[in-house]
Amino acid sequence: MLSTSLLLICYLVGSVAFILGLKMLSSPKTALNGNRLAAVGMLIAIGGTFLFYRNSNGEPLGNLIYIFIAIAIGATIGTLGAKKVKMTAMPQLVSLFNGAGGLCASLISIVEFNRIISSNTINQISTGFLLILIADLLIGSVSFSGSMIAFAKLNGNIKKVTSFTGQQFINFGILILIIFLAVLVVNGSVNTSLYFYAIFSLALVYGVLFVVPIGGADMPVVISLLNSFTGIATAFAGFLYSNQAMMTGGILVGSAGTILTLVMCRAMNRSLSKVLLGSFGAKKTATGESAERDYKEISVSDTAMIMNYAHKVMIVPGYGLAVAQAQHACHDLDKILTDKGIEVSYAIHPVAGRMPGHMNVLLAEANVPYDELEEMEPSNDEFPHTDVVLVLGANDVVNPAAENDPASPIYGMQILEVDKAKQVIVNKRTMHPGYAGISNALFYEDNTSMLFGDAKNVLEQIITEIKSM
Ligand code: NDP
Repeated sequence: MLSTSLLLICYLVGSVAFILGLKMLSSPKTALNGNRLAAVGMLIAIGGTFLFYRNSNGEPLGNLIYIFIAIAIGATIGTLGAKKVKMTAMPQLVSLFNGAGGLCASLISIVEFNRIISSNTINQISTGFLLILIADLLIGSVSFSGSMIAFAKLNGNIKKVTSFTGQQFINFGILILIIFLAVLVVNGSVNTSLYFYAIFSLALVYGVLFVVPIGGADMPVVISLLNSFTGIATAFAGFLYSNQAMMTGGILVGSAGTILTLVMCRAMNRSLSKVLLGSFGAKKTATGESAERDYKEISVSDTAMIMNYAHKVMIVPGYGLAVAQAQHACHDLDKILTDKGIEVSYAIHPVAGRMPGHMNVLLAEANVPYDELEEMEPSNDEFPHTDVVLVLGANDVVNPAAENDPASPIYGMQILEVDKAKQVIVNKRTMHPGYAGISNALFYEDNTSMLFGDAKNVLEQIITEIKSM
């Protein structure tokens, strides 16, 4: 049939656009166009469905009014949300959108299962189809409730890591119960949707219990894992509807999310099982262990002078740089120092900030040349040959506890070893801890000086001072 062939062509074009778009996301130079290309692919897939979809009776898509209303509401919320959100709240927005994808996948499987039950055809449905239906429901629901908890954690609504004794057993019990109910459904021995709703509810609870106790600095791994869950659930939903574009999109998100999870694990020097299981016994560290020790403070003018006479400066950006929106001021300082013949580069920790690639995105926004950004390992080789390291709103990613305090929740994570440089200047507003909630011995080292203040203000003052030298 012509319409079926045209629909398949639309899905093929959409899928190719997703793949090329994803490829283009790998460089900041092409990322924006990659995003646009993938959006066009999605438009073609959706438009093609409206125009060419025919059901088994040859009828076109129905319920158009409802579909348009839903699209209008979703598009309005998505556009306004993305436009209004502050750059610092972007990770939360990503978690929300990811959760919405997961919920969407589980709603699809609920609708499909209800259709099967109401037509009393469960015995005619293949085991494979029912398994995919349940996997879609399970993974989508875990991703939804887990993402909501991740949102609350990133947003600061859930501050403490809250696990309780025996939680692993409860999680295990829930999984066993889900498997038991799934076997009943797949057997075809149920004639009501109640079992399906029970799996849905248990999966939601599992998602909450799965993410709530994960803390310390392990959240980046969980966020990318949830992202891959949503992709896999979407791919399963694509199978249910034999929708090739949905399958390709889901597989791309699922595999990219899985690769990112493994990359994040490597960056944290953690195995995935340690992140997921280790957190249950997350030790509370002595957050005030260094509180009694003295630290040195440095003024803006002394900082400017030290930087002005340095040969090599490395900048270590962290979450505080995003909070202060100081990326442009940071690049201005970089340009002034470079013009004076000083070598400047940036050391980027893979989990700095609150989302994977956060610092790269932030600095790209200020047009910092990509070749000035150095990854963790080359940076650690460079620090011993560096005169001044300027730590801008970073904390956990430069915390030596990761290397020398086995009781610390970040123990084992690779850090930027800034203390190997001749002089370290740490800019932050207070002595408060970072995301992991632990004190930082770096601040009390002999070669470290604290430069208190909002990163943007401080950078602007340093620039003024250096210009007047
Ligand atoms: P941290 O959260 O460890 O530290 C950020 C520091 O910035 C704070 O100590 C804060 O101190 C300072 N700060 C805040 N606002 C300002 C400001 N306006 N000006 C100057 N300083 C400011 O950030 P890092 O980037 O070092 O580490 C990231 C942490 O987040 C890691 O623990 C990581 O695991 C976690 N995480 C990362 C995710 C990712 O995907 N990248 C996702 C979720 C969590 P003060 O208040 O005193 O100013």
